[in-house]
Amino acid sequence: MEVLYNSTRSKNEPVKASQAILKGLSEDGGLFVPDHIPALDRSLSELSEMDYRQVAYEVMKLFLTDFTEEELRACIERAYDSKFDTDVIAPLAEAGGACYLELFHGATIAFKDMALSILPHLMITAAKKNKVENEIVILTATSGDTGKAALAGFADVEGTKIIVFYPKDGVSPVQEKQMVTQKGANTLVVGIHGNFDDAQTGVKKLFSDRELAAEMEEKGYQFSSANSINIGRLVPQICYYVYAYAALLREGRIREGEQINVVVPTGNFGNILAAFYAKNMGLPIGKLICASNENKVLYDFFRTGTYDRNREFVLTASPSMDILISSNLERLIYRIAGNDADKNRELMAALTGKGKYEISAQMKASLGDFYGNYATEEETAAEIGRLYRECGYVIDTHTAVASAVYQKYRQETGDKAVTVIASTASPFKFARSVMNAIDEKYDAKTDFQLIDELSSLAGVKVPKAVEEIRTAPVLHRKQCEVGEMKDTVREFLHL
Ligand SMILES: *Cc1c(COP(=O)(O)O)cnc(C)c1O
Repeated sequence: MEVLYNSTRSKNEPVKASQAILKGLSEDGGLFVPDHIPALDRSLSELSEMDYRQVAYEVMKLFLTDFTEEELRACIERAYDSKFDTDVIAPLAEAGGACYLELFHGATIAFKDMALSILPHLMITAAKKNKVENEIVILTATSGDTGKAALAGFADVEGTKIIVFYPKDGVSPVQEKQMVTQKGANTLVVGIHGNFDDAQTGVKKLFSDRELAAEMEEKGYQFSSANSINIGRLVPQICYYVYAYAALLREGRIREGEQINVVVPTGNFGNILAAFYAKNMGLPIGKLICASNENKVLYDFFRTGTYDRNREFVLTASPSMDILISSNLERLIYRIAGNDADKNRELMAALTGKGKYEISAQMKASLGDFYGNYATEEETAAEIGRLYRECGYVIDTHTAVASAVYQKYRQETGDKAVTVIASTASPFKFARSVMNAIDEKYDAKTDFQLIDELSSLAGVKVPKAVEEIRTAPVLHRKQCEVGEMKDTVREFLHL
């Protein structure tokens, strides 16, 4: 059955999957959502015999229904290849009574690679299908990891350009170095003087700027988005939850049909929404555990039913989760409002206007699949230390937020179900915070000394992505004020 995509903010004509991928965001500012969640049409035991690429196909074919089998398989083959440093693509590591689903074995060692390795291929295919002749300009705001993963995916891809805005002082040194050393004549990387929410809000404004769109059209350009609001990112993320379940079943760690919990370190709510979609496809998931750092808007939301971004923005050691406006939550709000675009638009207008909104008691009652909690900076560091000392397993700061929240959840509920924790970044990406959490003696060392120390302590080779930036020259030095983002885009495209 065909899946069409509706906007969360109006009753406009629904679009096909390929059109939703090309547009990124709906013209009315809403996000595209599937008109229904398709059910898995393979049994769990069939899935358990498949490799990552096969599982990815079985999931994606159900959502991207206007892609042919040949097109989809070609995209998958190009995406999940030797760019990943392990054949299984997403290995499961057991430590301290939980299963860590390692989503960081791709080109930029963060989970964003899982979707951004395939998005360029989906987008080029979608452009061909829809006879788009314009060059596609990917415009992206990043809290650190999306930027590099999108750059790596789109660099030198014919028919595309990519512009990345990141908060100049809001990303880790390794994250920044990864981005500013990016090669590719079609790439632009800009540090803005503001935080991630400023970058994201600025980018959203550019997307809905009609004057800019007209200028671009005249020169043969059109925008699309590589942010997690693009369903071309969301759908590939559903695959690894299905794969993880299948792998647990194959390894005999669960029985067919047994419910597992999933813990996700959350920022923009994309990754956990993908898990929610997986559950709604029929994957036996019990609780979806939403883990926040000290920017705990989501924890407060699940507890009170009020989403309130009016608070201090905290810079933490898990910068990719330093977010006060979780864009993808809108898709859940729309759904629990009974797929009511008017109701959702009202709430989103309140968020823009007053910085907050409150959902009805009935909507709140339908959030039972979710459990929210958060970890402080101290708790996060302590969790890295604990897991290293008890199991010799080293996790990054984002994964540690999830792991710490899982400990709280278990203590609170006594729930002993098999639990998968989404491990969203390699510890090498945040070596300083990770090593400081293990022992404060590391404080005086340089970033690369720490990376080498981490390698010997964890018994893990330094990933290629990190080796490469040791000596790579800086190719991007551009910075701008939040108010100058539009002119920066104009200049790059010679408008
Ligand atoms: C982006 C990111 C997150 C947050 O994921 P969302 O889909 O935005 O909720 C968590 N951890 C890492 C390492 C990330 O890069």
